[in-house]
Amino acid sequence: MSEEPVITKRRFIAGAVCPACSEPDKLMMWSENDVPHRECVACGYADTLNEQGLSVPKELGTRVNTSALKAVDAKVQAVQFFPNPKLKKKPDEPQ
Ligand SMILES: [Zn+2]
Repeated sequence: MSEEPVITKRRFIAGAVCPACSEPDKLMMWSENDVPHRECVACGYADTLNEQGLSVPKELGTRVNTSALKAVDAKVQAVQFFPNPKLKKKPDEPQ
């Protein structure tokens, strides 16, 4: 219960290239509870490294997926929207 996160100072990684924007010397690295974190100050890319030392993107993965899904949804809705105004005019026939 009394465990507090151990966060090291952020340091630039000399010579490191951002996996997202390919800018060199923009990656900062620190660790939280011995979990390595990286963040790019140029584009905001951030990831952590898992136990195998593999990159685990923090935001890019999920955000790209959700935005792609939303774009598809918007197109479907737009197509379905057109018939609606015509349907509304039908009840206007005089009795
Ligand atoms: Zn970057």
